[in-house]
Amino acid sequence: METRESILKNLEGLRDELRGLQEPSHELEEWAQEEKERDILILQEQRQEEELSRIQIALQRIDQGTYGQCARCGRPIGDERLEEVPTAVFCMNCQP
Ligand SMILES: [Zn+2]
Repeated sequence: METRESILKNLEGLRDELRGLQEPSHELEEWAQEEKERDILILQEQRQEEELSRIQIALQRIDQGTYGQCARCGRPIGDERLEEVPTAVFCMNCQP
């Protein structure tokens, strides 16, 4: 069962994640320049964009009241999984 408290906790996690994504990773940039230069940075940016869109989808689902519900089978995703993956849209069984 989703409690209001756990949803708020998950939201807080999403905000932290957003903040983390917005902060530039100097370490990674330096390392990328030494290694494969831009390829790695581009991959990282793609990953961050994907993560951002997942967060936006999660926030939309909170607005719609479907957060924590599997988008495929409609069952609860489960607090444990949401704690680990706050942006999860599918339950463990439906995860592609
Ligand atoms: Zn499911």
